Amino acid sequence: MTLDYNSLLTALGISGGCLAVTLLMSWSVARAQAFLLTWAAGVALIVVYVVLYGFYVDYPDPLLGAISFVLLLAGLSALVGAARQFRTGQSSLRPTLSAAALSPIVPAAAMLLGFDGLGFIALNVAAALLLSATAGEYWTGRAEAPGPIVGLTVLYAVTAFGFVLCACVLIGDGRLVLGQAPQNWAEDVSLAISIAGMTGIGALSLALNHWRMAGKHRQEAMTDALTGLLNRRALFDRHGSMRFGPFAAVIVFDLDGFKSINDDHGHAAGDRVIRAFAEELAASTQRRMSAARLGGEEFALVLPRCLPEQAEQIAERIRAAFAARAIPTDGASLTCTVSAGIAFGSEDAPGFETVLRQADKALYAAKRGGRNRTVTRTLRLVS
Ligand code: GH3
Ligand code: MG
Ligand code: MG
Repeated sequence: MTLDYNSLLTALGISGGCLAVTLLMSWSVARAQAFLLTWAAGVALIVVYVVLYGFYVDYPDPLLGAISFVLLLAGLSALVGAARQFRTGQSSLRPTLSAAALSPIVPAAAMLLGFDGLGFIALNVAAALLLSATAGEYWTGRAEAPGPIVGLTVLYAVTAFGFVLCACVLIGDGRLVLGQAPQNWAEDVSLAISIAGMTGIGALSLALNHWRMAGKHRQEAMTDALTGLLNRRALFDRHGSMRFGPFAAVIVFDLDGFKSINDDHGHAAGDRVIRAFAEELAASTQRRMSAARLGGEEFALVLPRCLPEQAEQIAERIRAAFAARAIPTDGASLTCTVSAGIAFGSEDAPGFETVLRQADKALYAAKRGGRNRTVTRTLRLVS
């Protein structure tokens, strides 16, 4: 069975229509992902172009041709805009509208003036440029997910190449006036590439979006919403199976007299104090260390490699900086202190929970000792 050009166009229209509906549905359940809407609009414009161009193939009217050119280039401009929006997370309405307004000028004008051959050459060049720009957007953002994004780049670049082929064949032909839609092997190849490209690009882009959303949810599940630090679960995920040698330590912190801050100044002021401490903790957290909010006004800092005096210096620095910090609340500013307990691993390489328990014991010793202080506990395992 051989497929004629109009059947291929119909296939492209149907595959594009399905993709536009899928994108619109994806956007309706995730409206913050505005690029999905831009993209749906781009694909929808291309589908309308395919339908009109199908008519043009049978009835080559210059006005119909010019309108279809505008639709294709506006649709491809929206694809560039959607790719940029996906990469940067920011609206790109102005450059998208400019590209949609400027790119059809030469092709549509040539078509309306009767130089349809020239119009088709300009159309193919403009389409190839816009598709290359889309490929470039993805290429720039490839670090986020190299596999699927490089795949998308290749698909857009290959689709652009199809349009380049069409332009080259028309230039080689040399006729400025055709009187009908161009029919040559390059048109067939380009259309076949576009069908395959549309399907592959649709599947890859949706998979990429899901991958990004899943990563965002994973990140949210691991982050404490009030402070932005790791939460308890993330800390256990990271260090739960770690063995603690003599040069690994856990510091736990608990704010002093925090209940009375809540009672005297209100819960919102209490939250501000928690955030202020989290900022001090984060500021002293170096690479390889993990800072987490364990819950309430309790925090932990895990130091996988440090000398005993280093851990003590860090805990003391955080304690002193926090005690000296004036925390603005409604109308007034208040101060708060923190107690810290430090525990190290040992030659027996105990697990995280054991060291955390020991650090907790040291913390209670600091509380009993009068608060606003650091106590270190050396781990002695009873054999
Ligand atoms: P201590 O010096 O012995 O630690 O005394 P404390 O008053 O700090 O006692 P404790 O650690 O038991 O107090 C914890 C309080 O923290 C109790 C709870 O109401 C409050 N809390 C827990 N989570 C939050 C939170 O997210 N925001 C605010 N504002 N308060 C919280
Ligand atoms: Mg507490
Ligand atoms: Mg407390």
